[in-house]
Amino acid sequence: SKKVSDKRILVIGLGRFGSSMSLELVNHGWEVLGMDSSPRLVQMFSDALTHTVIADATDDEALRQIGAAQFSHAVVAIGTHLEESILATSQLVDLGVPDIWAKAVSRRHGRILEQVGAHHVVLPEHDMGERVAHLVSGRMLDYVELEEGFSLGKTKAPRELLGKSLRETRVRHKYGITVVSVKRLNEQFTYATEETVLHKGDLIVVAGRTEDVERFAESN
Ligand code: ADP
Repeated sequence: SKKVSDKRILVIGLGRFGSSMSLELVNHGWEVLGMDSSPRLVQMFSDALTHTVIADATDDEALRQIGAAQFSHAVVAIGTHLEESILATSQLVDLGVPDIWAKAVSRRHGRILEQVGAHHVVLPEHDMGERVAHLVSGRMLDYVELEEGFSLGKTKAPRELLGKSLRETRVRHKYGITVVSVKRLNEQFTYATEETVLHKGDLIVVAGRTEDVERFAESN
């Protein structure tokens, strides 16, 4: 879908996911219309969000009334109610909203949302579960798989890399990973170069194939 610069967004469902997302967007200067069928939730976020409305997102008349078709961006943040989530997404597709994001609770749910016409499907519980599995089982301090098989990992600088330049360590050749950023104690992360020398206590961000990134962190 084309990049739409308009900073107005319709968020359907103000549960944990939808409300966190909405508040973050408001902090980033976005105008958020938060919609939920629960009066209690709408009441709870009526001060924090730009606009709120109590309405059923599967009701096409209700969507027409709030001008849903005028939004460039919309998020369907309904999780557990599959039927509601699918119907709400389908309504937004019918209205021609050009940038629709939808939250899925499983891969199958996600596949249906894509088939219905969502432009982006996110699987927060599923993705976070996988991510925490890598953090628990490995030695990384933080980790994100950017796409299937390719990851960024944050780890302490391993002892064997200390005191010489990254070029001299031949770390890319040995482990297949690239050190992309370095953080010294009490400093910010900065980019790494071939001349960067790591010291005890440094944190590094490395990029590479997931299995190489994990193997590298294990060597620590
Ligand atoms: P989370 O796990 O993020 O809390 P939930 O699935 O529990 O997500 O919450 C989804 C929200 O979506 C709930 O607040 C629920 O009231 C709302 N919701 C469900 N169906 C509809 C609908 N048809 N129209 C508007 N809001 C809905």
